[in-house]
Amino acid sequence: MRTFEDFLQELELLDTFQQLGRMPDEKVPSAIVVVPKVAGHEERAGNNRPPLQAAKTAAVTSITIDPARAARIATMDWAELKAETAACTACGLCKQRKQAVFGVGAAPAPWLFVGEGPGAEEDEQGEPFVGQAGRLLDAVLAAAGLQRGREVYIANVVKCRPPGNRTPTLEEAAACAPLLDRQIELIQPKLIVALGKTAVIRLTGSDASMAAMRGSVHRYRDVPVVATYHPAYLLRSLTEKLKAWEDMMFARREMAKRGASGLENG
Ligand code: SF4
Repeated sequence: MRTFEDFLQELELLDTFQQLGRMPDEKVPSAIVVVPKVAGHEERAGNNRPPLQAAKTAAVTSITIDPARAARIATMDWAELKAETAACTACGLCKQRKQAVFGVGAAPAPWLFVGEGPGAEEDEQGEPFVGQAGRLLDAVLAAAGLQRGREVYIANVVKCRPPGNRTPTLEEAAACAPLLDRQIELIQPKLIVALGKTAVIRLTGSDASMAAMRGSVHRYRDVPVVATYHPAYLLRSLTEKLKAWEDMMFARREMAKRGASGLENG
């Protein structure tokens, strides 16, 4: 049985907390209990960060997509959406992929984590976050009392690997948007964690800095969105891992307000 300290060790945060002379206030629950309720929504979290500037959203929401394709996808069920994704050629990313990476988890799910796009290992295996960054994401999930494939669904903004693991363009994200939009409708998450800038822009329409976006509740349609760093970025920075930990604790508190898993035993 792994301990909470084991999880912190995996995140390379144990030494940091020990040097600080304190451990995190919120520990991983010993069991995960999902209590589905209709989510309540609050615009602001309990901090003093300023609200987002609406003008920031205009530039990243102006890309048009094929309305007929979007309307067709918007009526699909889960199996149809998977098949549509597997065969999709709506953007140039289809040319070099081995396979489209739909996502992992069961729908519906109270937690949805959205990353950027598949990397080499994901393209190979057909599952998001299976490489080194994936192992770190699993550790982050575990430290927050969550587990891939249970109450968590994991997806990406784009379903096909960008060459060289570059950031997807806004056009590619827009082409893939109907697939992710329908996926989210079917997953019915109570809270979305946006992993990195690409997911934040796609889900919230804001290109504000991560520093400005962290610690507040944003919106994707009616669903609350919490922003944090992409695990691949966390691999390079211990300081940012600590911030990601704080973000997960913030997300758990927000989820608890909505009556779902994460804090019942914490
Ligand atoms: S990235 Fe999305 S839109 Fe582009 S080909 Fe793949 S599934 Fe289609």
